[in-house]
Amino acid sequence: MGESMMMTYSKLQTKITIMLVIILTVSIGLNNVIGTYFFQKQYYEVLEEQILVIGQSLKNQLDHIHSFGFTEKNLVGFDELCKEIIWKHKEISLVYVADTDGQVLFKSKNQENTTMLDIPELLEAVRLSKEGVISYTHQGNSYLGAVIPFLNTDKTHYEGSVVVIVESNKINHKLFSLYKYPVLLTLLFFILSFFLIMLTLSNWVTNPLKSMVLHMNEAAAGNLRSYANTTARDEIGQLGQVFNRMLKQISELVVQTAQTIELESRYNAEFKQRKDGEALRHAISSVSSTLDEREVNERILTSLRELVPYTSSTLWIQHYDMLTSMMTRYDESSNGYKDIEYAEQHAREMFSLLQQQEQPFVKETNRIHFLYLPILIESNVQGMIIVQNGGSYTQSDVNIAFTYTSQVGSYIQNARLYRQMQRLAATDVLTGIYNRRHFFDQAFRVFQQSVHTNSHLGIIMFDVDHFKGVNDQYGHPVGDLVLASVAGRVSSYLLNDESQTFGRYGGEEFIILINGTSDEWLQALAEQIRRGISEMSFPTSHGDLRVTASLGIACRNEQAETLEKLLKLADTALYKAKASGRNCVAVTDDH
Ligand code: GH3
Ligand code: MG
Ligand code: MG
Repeated sequence: MGESMMMTYSKLQTKITIMLVIILTVSIGLNNVIGTYFFQKQYYEVLEEQILVIGQSLKNQLDHIHSFGFTEKNLVGFDELCKEIIWKHKEISLVYVADTDGQVLFKSKNQENTTMLDIPELLEAVRLSKEGVISYTHQGNSYLGAVIPFLNTDKTHYEGSVVVIVESNKINHKLFSLYKYPVLLTLLFFILSFFLIMLTLSNWVTNPLKSMVLHMNEAAAGNLRSYANTTARDEIGQLGQVFNRMLKQISELVVQTAQTIELESRYNAEFKQRKDGEALRHAISSVSSTLDEREVNERILTSLRELVPYTSSTLWIQHYDMLTSMMTRYDESSNGYKDIEYAEQHAREMFSLLQQQEQPFVKETNRIHFLYLPILIESNVQGMIIVQNGGSYTQSDVNIAFTYTSQVGSYIQNARLYRQMQRLAATDVLTGIYNRRHFFDQAFRVFQQSVHTNSHLGIIMFDVDHFKGVNDQYGHPVGDLVLASVAGRVSSYLLNDESQTFGRYGGEEFIILINGTSDEWLQALAEQIRRGISEMSFPTSHGDLRVTASLGIACRNEQAETLEKLLKLADTALYKAKASGRNCVAVTDDH
C-alpha cells in the first residue's frame, strides 16, 4: 500500500508540475509573441525615424556641398560620411542621391547592389520629391526606404533626393539575435521553475499527504493515537481533521467495545460462578437429604453428573485398609464405555497417588479422559471417584468436581454413622441379635408381605428353662454368657436375611420369624435348635453347666390373621412345651 501511495504521489506531483510548466510555457510564449510584435512595431517606428533623421543630416550635408557643385572632389567628404553612417548603422544597406528623374547622382561606394533602385514605389517618391519612408518588398526581401528631397541652390525647385535604404531582413536577423538571451534565460527559468515547483509541491502537497498516509497506516496497524497534523488550512488540513475525528470515534468505539467485552466476560464469569454454585448446592443438598448409605453413594455419583460430564463413574471407599468399589454409574445416553471395568489394581495405584498428593488429577488413555477425585473423610483421603469421558476435562471441571468431592466425604461418614447407630438401636447389646423393638418393626413388615404374597409364615418362640436357677447358682455374668451363647448358636442355624428374623423377645425368651417355609421344615428347625441348646456346655468353677430350652411353634392361618394373634399362638405353644416338661417343641392346638 505504501509503495502504491508513493507512486500516486510522484504521479500527482508530475501531473501538477507538467500542468504548471505548460501554463508557464504558454503564458511566457504568448508574452513573447505579443512582446515581439510590439517590440518590432516600435523598433520599426524608431528605425523609420532614425533613417529619416540620418537622411536629413545627409541632406543637410549635401545642401552644404551643393553650393560648391557635386564634383567628385567635393563629394569625397560626403562619401566618407556615408561610409561612416553605414559602418555605424549596420542595418543600413544603401545610401544614394538621385535626381528627380530617378537617375543616381551619387551612391556610397561600398554598396554595389543597384537592383534595389529600380523599385517603382521608390522611383515614384524620388520623382515626386516626397519626403517620407516607404516600405516595399523586392525579390522576397522587405525594405524600408527613406526619401529626403533637396532643393536647388536657388531654392526654386527640388533637384533630387537623398535615399537611405534599410533591409528589413537584416533587422529581423538582428532582432532575432536579440531574442537569443531572453529565450535562453526563459529556458533556464523553465528548468529552475520545474525543480522549484517540484520542491514546492513536495512540501505543500505530497509531504502532508505522505504524513497523512503514514498516520493512516499507523492507525490501520492499531495505533489509534496516530493523529494527523492539522495545521494546514487547505483541504489536506481538513482531511487531517476529518481523519482525526474518525480516529477519535474509532478509539471511543474501541474503548466502548472493550468495556462491553469486559462487562460481558465478567457477567459470564459471574453467571458461570453462580450457575456452578447453584449446581454445587443442588448436588450437595441431594446427597445430604438422605442418610441411607447406599442412597448416599448413588446420589454422590448421579449429582456429580450435574457438575461434570461423564460416561461412567465409580465410587471407591477404603474400609479397614480395603478399597472397595461401592457404586458405578453409567451415562444412559452414551454407549461404548460401559464394558470398561476399572481393574482393582489400577484403582489401588491411583488411590495411593491421591493419598499422597490429596489433589485431583486427570489422565488420558486410549482417547478416554479420566478424572481422579479424592474423597476426604475426617481430613484423610478415604475414598475416590474415578470419572471417565470421551471429551477432555477442563481446569474448571476439575475445580468444581473437587469442591464437590471434598464435601461429600462428610455425608458418607454421616451415613456410615447413621447405619451404625441404626444397627445399635436395633441390636440387643448382650446377644447381638435384634432387640424386641426392631424385631417387631421387621416382623410387622414381613408379616404384611406374607399376607400380600400369601406365603407360609411361621414363628418359633423359645425360652431357656429354669434360667432363674442359673443366675442364682452361677451368678448373673454366667447367665449373660449363656444367653449370648444360646443366641449365637441359634443364629448359626439361620439365614442372615429378611426371610428369617431372629430377635430377643425379652429376658431369656427368644423369637424367630420365618417366611416362606413349611410346617415340617419349621418343626425340624425347632428341633435342631432344641438339640443344639441342650448340647451346649459351659465350663464353670462349679463344674460344667448345661441348659435346655422349650420351644413353641405357630403358623399364620385363618385364626392367626394378625401378627399379634400369631404371637399369642406361639406363646401358647411355648407354654404348652413348658407344661409338657420342658426341653421340647410344642405346636399350638388351635390348628
Ligand atoms: P421357666 O423354666 O419356667 O422358664 O423358669 P425360669 O426360671 O427360666 O423363669 P423365670 O421367669 O422365673 O425366670 C427368668 C429369669 O431370667 C429371671 C431373670 O433374672 C433372668 N433373666 C432375665 N433376663 C436376664 C439377663 O439378661 N441376664 C441374666 N443373667 N438373667 C436374666
Ligand atoms: Mg425361662
Ligand atoms: Mg421366661
